Amino acid sequence: MQTTPLETQDVLDYLRESGRWNEELKQKLQQTVDKFRLDSIPGNGKRNYLRKTYDCPFFEDKSLGCSIPKEVKPYGCLGFNPTAPNESEGKSCGSDQLLLLKRESAHPEESRLNADLSKKYHLWWEKLPLPLALLEAEKSGL
Ligand code: SF4
Repeated sequence: MQTTPLETQDVLDYLRESGRWNEELKQKLQQTVDKFRLDSIPGNGKRNYLRKTYDCPFFEDKSLGCSIPKEVKPYGCLGFNPTAPNESEGKSCGSDQLLLLKRESAHPEESRLNADLSKKYHLWWEKLPLPLALLEAEKSGL
């Protein structure tokens, strides 16, 4: 799942406030980045670069599911749903990209906030896979 600086900041704040932002988690995120080569994606961190799939480190297991509360979950995660009835293995799951774009364009203030964050923290990216976005955000002092 790719996240903007604003979405990344929400998750990062939550992780810090809940005491989950620790070396163990950072290591887990880095392992995901390394395993799926999330930092060697063709492109320059801008919105239209190639998406990569990866096993999200915040997915606990089949029964527990995602460990990120819905209040801070990136929109792409909230919009990631089964597209076939009676789905049990996630094979038909996907995001409705058009709907996500529509939501984005209905909230121009988010673009401004993302631009402000990028400027303030000298971010080189507009969207990155969540594990990499969190590590890059911290590196930049976000
Ligand atoms: S819903 Fe949760 S487990 Fe799935 S990609 Fe988003 S953060 Fe990761």
